Amino acid sequence: MRYLSTRDPQGEATLSFCDILIGGLAPDGGLYLPESYPQVDADTLARWRRLLEEEGYAALAHAILSLYVDDIPDADLRGICERAYTAEKFGTKEIVPVARLDGSLFLGHLSNGPTAAFKDMAMQLLGELFEYELRRRDSSLAILGATSGDTGSAAIFAMKGRPNIHVFMLSPAGRMTPFQQAQMFSVDDPHVVNMAVDGVFDDCQDIVKKVSSDLDFKELHRLGAVNSINWARLLAQVVYYVACWLRATDGLEDADAREVSFVVPTGNFGNVCAGHVARQMGVPIDTLVVATNENDVLDEFFRTGVYRVRTSTETHETSSPSMDISKASNLERFVFDLLHRDGARTAELFAGLSTGEGFDLSGDPVFGDVRDRFGFASGTSTHADRVSTIAAVEKKYGVLVDPHTADALKVAFDVLDGGDVDTPLVVLETALPVKFASTIVEAVGREPEIPDAYAYLRDADRHVMDIGNDADLVKKVIVDTLTQ
Ligand SMILES: *Cc1c(COP(=O)(O)O)cnc(C)c1O
Repeated sequence: MRYLSTRDPQGEATLSFCDILIGGLAPDGGLYLPESYPQVDADTLARWRRLLEEEGYAALAHAILSLYVDDIPDADLRGICERAYTAEKFGTKEIVPVARLDGSLFLGHLSNGPTAAFKDMAMQLLGELFEYELRRRDSSLAILGATSGDTGSAAIFAMKGRPNIHVFMLSPAGRMTPFQQAQMFSVDDPHVVNMAVDGVFDDCQDIVKKVSSDLDFKELHRLGAVNSINWARLLAQVVYYVACWLRATDGLEDADAREVSFVVPTGNFGNVCAGHVARQMGVPIDTLVVATNENDVLDEFFRTGVYRVRTSTETHETSSPSMDISKASNLERFVFDLLHRDGARTAELFAGLSTGEGFDLSGDPVFGDVRDRFGFASGTSTHADRVSTIAAVEKKYGVLVDPHTADALKVAFDVLDGGDVDTPLVVLETALPVKFASTIVEAVGREPEIPDAYAYLRDADRHVMDIGNDADLVKKVIVDTLTQ
């Protein structure tokens, strides 16, 4: 399998999986995609069903990854998957349990990993892949990132303890939830440096951009990123769409031919883009419902064909903060497919797209394909919706969900009421309620329970340095740490 950039006018796929594993964007500013999506037929699906049942999630991950990776020996790839997806790290043997709420409504539990958010699903695999490939190249990597909460701790928990990897993580001082802070700062590892920046999340991101744009510095210290446009992260997520489909259809008559739909809490379009890939491979997925919060740039696009990047004043700070985005970096992958993989046109639409700008596909015949050929639908919710959904779901089903999952459940109820979808519906749960306690208190009048696996955080030491809003200070910390 070879990979190409979404902005390549020639559509030439020349790179292998490991070529694109550690880099982020393609040099032309595009995102990487495989030259084609391997097609699965009924026999493959039946084989995957047996594999998941008999050998488990890691074996299924290996089977799917091996369709996309041809430069890691098979036994090594299997080992990588087995180390990434253990019952110990994910709390259950299933890794992604799927629970029926009622009738044909299911909850796919993606957030039982080490940091209680779905980002662990991809990041744990990425940690194994990075360590493997860096060792093979006799190289090392210093990951520099900015986080508003979930990504940072998922990256730290995936990368810690790996001899060839350092992590430098910037977060806005005092702005993450208490649980997120306790978790991220609990890691005591000389290769992990948490910096609490005197500023907001955008300031942290600006520092990362500034430091990374110093190319000499970047090369000298082997700086890298683990952001959501990384293809390996997306590929890891394809696996749980297959696992959720298998589990939601389990026991049904003619199960391997039964379609399922998904409702996905969406920010950067990383999670649901993996659903798109699974659907393109031939996994029987009917509808992919994009659920947004008040930051509804994607709901607007999927309803109207107009994509308009929000300004920072138009970007709301909400109670589902991991979906607070002004533009959705992974959308370019879907638009590339929508435009029949026309790299020149994709480049035209996305290159230089900045705040307040956008594009309009409403009058283009391809826009009809969004629903008809690609199965996308969308919906949105508000703070009041989240709070009432959390309360209603707890009352009706006895299940406490986090605010991001509540966004998706609210949209799922709209979809069910509208009669738009007549397949089983899997809502993807993307975080545990314990991460977002204050909204839970508002909804149900009590604190969420702290699961046993996270009880140690209650009195864990904090390993974090306060730092001014200044790229040069961050550079100095990087140099001092790496030359220690
Ligand atoms: C990151 C995140 C999302 C959004 O996922 P995308 O891949 O950015 O669309 C939703 N919910 C939670 C809890 C997250 O951490």
